[in-house]
Amino acid sequence: MSKYWSAVTRGLTPYVPGEQPKLSKLIKLNTNENPYPPSPQAIAAITAELSANGKADGSNLRLYPDPNADRLKAAVARHFASAGITPAHVFVGNGSDEVLAHAFQGLLKHERPILYPDITYSFYPVYCGLYGIDYEQVALNAQFELEADAYLKPNGGIIFPNPNAPTGRLLPLSEVEKIVAGNPDSVVVLDEAYIDFAALEIPSAVSLVSRYPNLLVVHTLSKSRSLAGLRVGYAIGQPELIAGLERVKNSFNSYPLDRLALAGAVAAMEDLRHFEQTRKAVMKSRDALVAEMQKLGFDTLPSAANFIFTRHPQHDAATLSAALRERSIIVRHFRQSRIEQYLRITIGTDDECMLLLAALREIL
Ligand SMILES: *Cc1c(COP(=O)(O)O)cnc(C)c1O
Repeated sequence: MSKYWSAVTRGLTPYVPGEQPKLSKLIKLNTNENPYPPSPQAIAAITAELSANGKADGSNLRLYPDPNADRLKAAVARHFASAGITPAHVFVGNGSDEVLAHAFQGLLKHERPILYPDITYSFYPVYCGLYGIDYEQVALNAQFELEADAYLKPNGGIIFPNPNAPTGRLLPLSEVEKIVAGNPDSVVVLDEAYIDFAALEIPSAVSLVSRYPNLLVVHTLSKSRSLAGLRVGYAIGQPELIAGLERVKNSFNSYPLDRLALAGAVAAMEDLRHFEQTRKAVMKSRDALVAEMQKLGFDTLPSAANFIFTRHPQHDAATLSAALRERSIIVRHFRQSRIEQYLRITIGTDDECMLLLAALREIL
């Protein structure tokens, strides 16, 4: 505490990100990064951006980037063209966390409390604290499923991840639609950070956007496109919602995406082959890991994400997490009621999954 802090600053409870260890020897299964490198075309585009104008001296970094990110919006729109998405349906930001922050301030802050699940992404209450938004937590059922009917009551807005985090459970698109259709007077923000790992045929709510003016779907390049370090996210919604987000963004930071991020993100969106390859590999490893964990006695929730949420009936989760850490493997454990006996484990490469299983066998 400092007397120089504003009242708002004094009242904040900031988000605590998962550990980013400085030691490189650790097997890092704690923050849901992709174990595979990003598209080589994205890396080539970033390098090319540094040597634009035929000079390899990075001299175009002297110049501000495109404040409207037109090329990136066009690339995202092309990716979803079959759903009727145009560049006017696309908003981009410095990671989807920034996109979400603008959505809280610009679309979710109203008179009534907003609704989100009791077990969910722990950044949501942080944004509510920052922007002074009232909220009501809606309990997931005993199987940690989100129940659409519980969201059919008066509210100032609704937000949830699908698949949910940290549970990994997917709400079917028909149930998502029930929530969106049942709340025509409030915005429903769908945080689809992990949707690309749900199934071969991606069950994204982007397909609903052209029919619902109150739906905003948020995606990130951090997980399925292996670019957490580049910080790029986007939202898709009808142009009026997007225009609202642009007003907030242009009242905050006109250049949230730098030149390297814009170049890399465009190429990553366009490299479908790499995208398909890596997301399929992650899904395959996930399904194999779940089966092996079951042999060790773990109960794992059905996962539609690039992580699993799992518990062992005979072993305390905090103890397991500490024992894994002693063996240089870090996973995420949340000290929160209902889930304190669960571990969230990111899907690594097959080698990393094997080392995880070997360590667990030794510990158990
Ligand atoms: C990882 C994650 C994000 C944030 O992603 P960035 O684009 O890296 O900011 C948003 N929502 C959920 C649920 C996440 O797990």
